[in-house]
Amino acid sequence: MPSAPPLTPPLRAEVDLRALRYNARALRRRAEGATLVAVVKADAYGHGALPVVRALLEEGVERFAVAGVAEGIALREGGVEAPLLVMMAPLPEMLPAYARYNLAATVATREGAEAVASAARRGGPLTVHVKVDTGLHRLGLAPADVPGVLRLLQGAPGVAVEGLWTHFATADEPDLDFAYEQLALFDALVHAVDPPPLLHLANSGGLLQIPEAVEGRALVRVGGALYGLPASRILEMEAPEVRPVMRLVTRVLQVKTVERGETVSYGRTWTASGPTRIATLAVGYGDGYPRSLSNRGHVAVRGRLYPIAGRVCMDLTMLDLGPPDGPGGAVRVGDEAVLFGSGGPSALDVAEWADTISYALTCGLTARVPRVYVGAENGGGAPA
Ligand SMILES: *Cc1c(COP(=O)(O)O)cnc(C)c1O
Repeated sequence: MPSAPPLTPPLRAEVDLRALRYNARALRRRAEGATLVAVVKADAYGHGALPVVRALLEEGVERFAVAGVAEGIALREGGVEAPLLVMMAPLPEMLPAYARYNLAATVATREGAEAVASAARRGGPLTVHVKVDTGLHRLGLAPADVPGVLRLLQGAPGVAVEGLWTHFATADEPDLDFAYEQLALFDALVHAVDPPPLLHLANSGGLLQIPEAVEGRALVRVGGALYGLPASRILEMEAPEVRPVMRLVTRVLQVKTVERGETVSYGRTWTASGPTRIATLAVGYGDGYPRSLSNRGHVAVRGRLYPIAGRVCMDLTMLDLGPPDGPGGAVRVGDEAVLFGSGGPSALDVAEWADTISYALTCGLTARVPRVYVGAENGGGAPA
């Protein structure tokens, strides 16, 4: 076969590793004495776990956390040797893999602690972080059960209790009353533990909004802020220095004029009120671009935002460029269209239009979207 010319797919997620490293430096300053644990679950929120971890290692980030054991194994097989915490609680049959790959396990129940003790006896040393449920009611031990479980684990041969932690329910929100209740529950517990292992509570929201969750704690577990993805408007305001890492861009495949009364896309949910230029973009829900943006989202072309016309399809999305004699009349086939990121709406804007959060947007991008890494060399400037 003759060799094909290099192909640039119209839709791509550009991942700016300079911005990532810049954010790591800025957040480390915020964390003061606490060590940053970079949360790289869900393929680093869709940014690509291995390239993200490698860039952060260059930046001096020492610890990482993933959600599931398979994510931890993939990083180990990619050559990552740094401490790795698996935040989901394991099922007992998964524990030998934790020992084999040197992954720190979360203990969230008494049965989980017993399984760890028995797996360590039979299959080699295990490191654990004991998870306390202080109010999220997702994973974790009731505070009253923590001292007993710690005793069990500390007396178990081959088990190292490295951490004690909890997770906030409302650290991303403006009202922090409940977060302070969780903090008080955790602190009451910590006073009963001697000597305390590495303590950690804060996610991005905790780091940015709850100084008491950071000062004097060993670790902070930061995901969203590292990627420049604010989970809410309040966090966007609290971290103005953080830069978006991902930019989702595509290209215009076709431009046409539809007349008054004509409709666009499936179900005919959009009707032209007069002669209107329509641009067809190479992006759709098959790429993870939310279908809920139908008739609600906006996309930037040539520095202007245009509304989505009609339903987002699996592979294609149409824009209402306005009347042919307006600024949208200048849009041409091949023009770049910024779906989110630099030069377009923010991921948070798009998330709000789609009635979701910015994390879900980047996590939801499918394997069809190539991740293109830029800024892989050192640099990026000092944080402000
Ligand atoms: C995802 C996650 C984090 C990181 O949260 P961000 O808001 O992205 O910083 C921290 N801790 C736990 C338990 C998580 O599941």
